[in-house]
Amino acid sequence: MFKPLDIDKNTSAESANPVDSEKVKCLIVGSGPAGYTAAIYAARANLKPVLYEGLQPGGQLTTTTEVENFPGYPEGVTGPVLMEDLKKQAERFGTDIRWGLATKADFSGSVHKIWIDENKLIEAEVVIIATGATAKYLGLDDEKKYAGGGVSACATCDGFFYRGKDVAVVGGGDTAAEEAIYLAGLCRKVYLIVRRDELRASKVMAERVNKTRNIEVLWKHQTKGLFGDGVVEGAILVKNQGQPDEEEVKIKIDGFFLAIGHKPNSDIFKDYLETDQVGYIKTIPGTSKTKVPGVFACGDVQDSQYRQAVTAAGSGCMAAIDAERYLSEKNG
Ligand code: FAD
Ligand code: NAP
Repeated sequence: MFKPLDIDKNTSAESANPVDSEKVKCLIVGSGPAGYTAAIYAARANLKPVLYEGLQPGGQLTTTTEVENFPGYPEGVTGPVLMEDLKKQAERFGTDIRWGLATKADFSGSVHKIWIDENKLIEAEVVIIATGATAKYLGLDDEKKYAGGGVSACATCDGFFYRGKDVAVVGGGDTAAEEAIYLAGLCRKVYLIVRRDELRASKVMAERVNKTRNIEVLWKHQTKGLFGDGVVEGAILVKNQGQPDEEEVKIKIDGFFLAIGHKPNSDIFKDYLETDQVGYIKTIPGTSKTKVPGVFACGDVQDSQYRQAVTAAGSGCMAAIDAERYLSEKNG
């Protein structure tokens, strides 16, 4: 049994501190599949979760149309509908879902502090971080113009829609190599657009790329733009940019996949938690526990490998169970 915890609002708690403050048992930061799944489990375990949605309520899936690989939807489901369903399920068990952005964290004490929109302090017994990761884009206007019309940052998610077609992957790291190989199994031809004359990817992945018959690597190519009537029909590339032999190259493609890295949304937690060099929060393997007791991380913010809605949801479940066990042990 948990000890009851007063959820008290205290706008003048420390008279020297004008910040509005509130004590909660369980704070969830983020409203993607990880955050909402953590909320469903935490609410059902009577942790009375408070969840802040951040700038993208519903997370990354709200930016896509069809999701065909989330279990339980045999006909597929659109990203926004799936996220609305998850939100309703979290609300059904009493999750307090709020609009707001976590702007600062302090995990130095036994009670964890998170500031919302810089002016509200939440003091939480447990914090579940589910802030996701953001795919990097090249910054071309055409990436926005053709969003949902041939531009994607996730081959596993969208590759299926390009079966038998020609596509391009941009990037030279392990992700680009992996995505190109995955797409090569579905598509007729895959161009791998690499800005240097070598891959950053590990040797083993580079060898796999070389051995894949229908991958053509375009060395020293950069993307200038995309073209097509409403949907992507091709890309305009520049070969040997800035060199005397610079030339423009056009390729005909139906899909343009970005694989130039992701940025985990972990900046505000970095002073207290361990991250890898990219910024993914490190958790104890097989758990959602960070190095700070009572602080848990789930979903893409701690996952450089899978980055799928179902894995995010699964790890959200783990975080809520880990949080419940932590509180049980702590409070007796
Ligand atoms: P996210 O979905 O990224 O959600 C992060 C949440 O954290 C957001 O609500 C955001 O507002 C919030 N947040 C961030 N910072 C803060 C902060 N400081 N304070 C408060 N809140 C904050 N996966 C699949 O399995 N199938 C697919 O078909 C598929 N298609 C995709 C299509 C696209 C275009 C994209 C971009 C991704 C796709 N994915 C797909 C991947 C999938 O969306 C992610 O793996 C999944 O959403 C990760 O869930 P998450 O909960 O970890 O984070
Ligand atoms: P990464 O290693 O940072 O590689 C990013 C790639 O994108 C680089 O080749 C980079 O080019 C290129 N790039 C960046 N900005 C670009 C731009 N504006 N235009 C064109 N190209 C651009 O990222 P990642 O591939 O996502 O990998 C991240 C980490 O996860 C790595 O540690 C990786 O090893 C790991 N990972 C491992 C596996 C695996 O082991 N199977 C799979 C996926 C990821 P330059 O090389 O010229 O900088």
